[in-house]
Amino acid sequence: MNKTNIIVTIGPSSNTKEMIKELILGGSSVFRINLNYADHSFCRDVINKIRDVDKELGTCSAIMFDTIGPDVKTGKFSGGKALFNEGTKIRIYSSEILGDETKLYIDYYDLIDGVRCDSLIKLNNGRVVLNVLEKGPDYLLCEVITGGEVIDFSSVHLEEVKLPFLSDKDREDIIFADKMGVDFLALSLVSSTEDVLDVNDLLIELGNDHLSIISKIERQSAVDEIDDIIRVSDGVMITRGDLGVDIPIERIPGIQKMIINKCHYENKISIVATEVLSSMEDSLIPTRAEVSDIANAVLDGVDAIMLSLETMTGHYPVEALNVMKKVIMATEVDIDYVDLLERSLRSDNGDITGGLAYSVCELASRLESKCIVAPTITGYTAKKISRFRPKCLVIALSPDVKTVRSLKLHFGVYPIHIEKLKNLDDTISTSREYAMKCLNLKSGDKMIITGGYPFSKTKHTNFIKIEEI
Ligand code: PGA
Ligand code: MN
Repeated sequence: MNKTNIIVTIGPSSNTKEMIKELILGGSSVFRINLNYADHSFCRDVINKIRDVDKELGTCSAIMFDTIGPDVKTGKFSGGKALFNEGTKIRIYSSEILGDETKLYIDYYDLIDGVRCDSLIKLNNGRVVLNVLEKGPDYLLCEVITGGEVIDFSSVHLEEVKLPFLSDKDREDIIFADKMGVDFLALSLVSSTEDVLDVNDLLIELGNDHLSIISKIERQSAVDEIDDIIRVSDGVMITRGDLGVDIPIERIPGIQKMIINKCHYENKISIVATEVLSSMEDSLIPTRAEVSDIANAVLDGVDAIMLSLETMTGHYPVEALNVMKKVIMATEVDIDYVDLLERSLRSDNGDITGGLAYSVCELASRLESKCIVAPTITGYTAKKISRFRPKCLVIALSPDVKTVRSLKLHFGVYPIHIEKLKNLDDTISTSREYAMKCLNLKSGDKMIITGGYPFSKTKHTNFIKIEEI
């Protein structure tokens, strides 16, 4: 079984029950829906299909919604694009018009009042720069400072305008995520901790205590505030697409390594995303560079890797997943577990569960234990163990389906939904039973069972039991 988790994005190439079944069997543990390309009826349909397949297979897949974020865009242009020549004057309207060489539409509600004269407007990732000369009744008159081409729905950057992070659309989408029992919320275009805290406030307002917040790191400002963003999030996703627009692409590998390390240190989820197996969108064979990219993320100790367009619109979703799983499994053999363990130790806060989790991992390594079984109610024990990166699998058993799904992104954790456990004897025998079911255990093989007893949401992990088959 793979310990580095795989997230699969669902879209037109993969939104059938047959395909979802193949993807679950192929090793996908979390399904992502990108709200830039999906309306609520699509989401509902996909979630229903995933739940149906889960029921059929006895699995428990997690769902991730990926928000649109505070994004301002141009409208459409006649012929799909327009060339703005340096020195010419153009008008920007705040009501929808079809753009051309002399005018365009920007979908920002406060354009006329909110943008200052003599400020800059950058289009198409900064390639075209405009200066605001004067304001008309329903338009801004601008001069083109740097000329260039702009296409339909190009990005817009408004100097000095701080957009509210939570747009009405994102708010609606998060309320919908809460209603649909979604497990992970990937937040697009986070720039500061305040952005994450705003979403956290909304979740508190909704009474939602289980939706995990994954901040997408795709802006320079997010990289600048990375420590604080990691602290207030459940995890982060290094989205190399947009990140590579905001900062020079050659800096991405270093930033990726730095973020994975910091997450490991803070016991937060790290995810690497975008163009992971791009060539497999229309080819059956990945490039050697793509294989190396996946392997390097695994060796660095990432929790999960995501497939985006490969499974959303690509021609070979299942094949891409198979390649991903094969590369992950082959690379996990070469992980330096001792180094990862030492790294985690340096940052452990010394609480009881952490201490026990560390001992469990040490013991597992010394006894060459085949697995660690962690019956858990909140998932805390399993998360703590995952942080020490044991070489063997961590089987997390929980009667709470939300806990099971919330553990789907933690490295090395294989969460399973079980019936409520009655007592300590039941806990031990159920743990043995599931370990036997998951792994091909032989006589003499050892496993470690650890958890908290009596069962309660507040108690620490307090027992370790070694079992021999
Ligand atoms: P997106 O983010 O899929 O929401 O565009 C990914 C990225 O920017 O890399
Ligand atoms: Mn993005």
